[in-house]
Amino acid sequence: MRKPIIAGNWKMFKTRDEALAFVYAVNEKLPSIDVVDTVICAPFVVLRCLVKRQGDNLRIGAQNMHYEEKGAFTGEIAPQMLTSLDVSYVIIGHSERRAMFNETDETVNKKLHAAFKYGLTPILCVGEHLEERENGQTEEVIKNQLVKDLEGLSKKEVKDLVIAYEPIWAIGTGKTATAEIADETCGFIRKMIASLYDEETSSAIRIQYGGSVKVSNIEELMKMPNIDGALIGGASLVAEDFIYFANVAKKYTEQ
Ligand code: 13P
Repeated sequence: MRKPIIAGNWKMFKTRDEALAFVYAVNEKLPSIDVVDTVICAPFVVLRCLVKRQGDNLRIGAQNMHYEEKGAFTGEIAPQMLTSLDVSYVIIGHSERRAMFNETDETVNKKLHAAFKYGLTPILCVGEHLEERENGQTEEVIKNQLVKDLEGLSKKEVKDLVIAYEPIWAIGTGKTATAEIADETCGFIRKMIASLYDEETSSAIRIQYGGSVKVSNIEELMKMPNIDGALIGGASLVAEDFIYFANVAKKYTEQ
């Protein structure tokens, strides 16, 4: 049985005071980390204050990092800077970074290797554009991303990896993929992992859905066999909603 993982991607939202108010509101109200992993991926500048105040059942993640361990990279953050703050997760290859900040499959691959080297759990984002879905290219696009992004990673690393399937057309648009479409594509990702690695790895890896996840649709998504959780943008900014998502995920560990 795979442990569900609910992760909030705050993107470029929340000042220090807002971040602290959120964490105080959710602490004590999240399910045990023994049954659900709950993670907030926050802007770099609030990571330390969140880590210091996180309750026992919350983990903190970053939204990006550089793959080098140090150097003249103005404005960048190295993996061990994150681990030195007790940050445990990092989102890699989010479509907003691929589209706006020159993230490529090559840099994604380097970042995944660096994350594992320094003991961070990466959440790798993959997904297709609307035009690609409409042209029937979804599987080809995702296969391409997976082959390049995972190159050289060991079986053990891939078992620990979290993949977020985030169709680009569903991000921030209010257009969620139907639970069936989301499950079908997450199932395709699982099949790809089996063919690149093996059945054991593919049944261990956790695959999330992301893109306009809301209180009104989390339940139908969590019911699906290939969906092990969600990567949530806008709705993760609201403490009550985040608590709700985590508790729905808990319900599906009990069935
Ligand atoms: P929304 O939930 O706001 O659509 O964002 C999804 C996302 O990009 C999470 O990484």
